[in-house]
Amino acid sequence: MDPIKRLQSGFEHFKKETYEKKPDVFRTLADGQSPKFMVFACADSRVCPSVLFNFAPGEAFMVRNIANMVPPYDKTKYTGVGAAVEYAVRHLKVENIVVIGHSRCGGIKGLMSIKDDGSSSSDFIEDWVKICMPAREKVKSSCSELAFPDQCTKCEKEAVNVSLDNLKTYPFVKEALEKKTLAVYGGYYDFVSGDFEAWTV
Ligand SMILES: [Zn+2]
Repeated sequence: MDPIKRLQSGFEHFKKETYEKKPDVFRTLADGQSPKFMVFACADSRVCPSVLFNFAPGEAFMVRNIANMVPPYDKTKYTGVGAAVEYAVRHLKVENIVVIGHSRCGGIKGLMSIKDDGSSSSDFIEDWVKICMPAREKVKSSCSELAFPDQCTKCEKEAVNVSLDNLKTYPFVKEALEKKTLAVYGGYYDFVSGDFEAWTV
């Protein structure tokens, strides 16, 4: 496979099947975006939100990172995520933020595998996934009887709830939630069974 050819043929398909078939849509989008959703999803190649939810261009403002995590408000760390949340909420005025976890997440497995002594074997990954340490602690204490893969499944969902809590630490998110101009949701996509569930908090 020639990677450049792969990109070009994929783009030709998009241009012929989507771009040229909806000129009005793309003319409007050229003037600006007004997405109703902000979506947090994992960087995992199997969980692309546009594919899963049939989002059209302009419909969802997206952040993808390891294990779909939202760190707490902190002006000195994780500013890439903070900037995206700020832009989505303050400027685009999205009405919904959805954090979507998924089955067999390598990032969550990494979080569940961190040694109890806290020692690190990666440059960035463990430090990043520790954002959802409260989810790991909850699962380790309440589901210790479960096999490790099942603990990871529990943690994939609990980590979404930690991210939803973390979202509320952003003053502009808290304000929009109080004004009810914004709602936050959790979601979970299981690509083994082919199921999706969503919940409110
Ligand atoms: Zn993942």
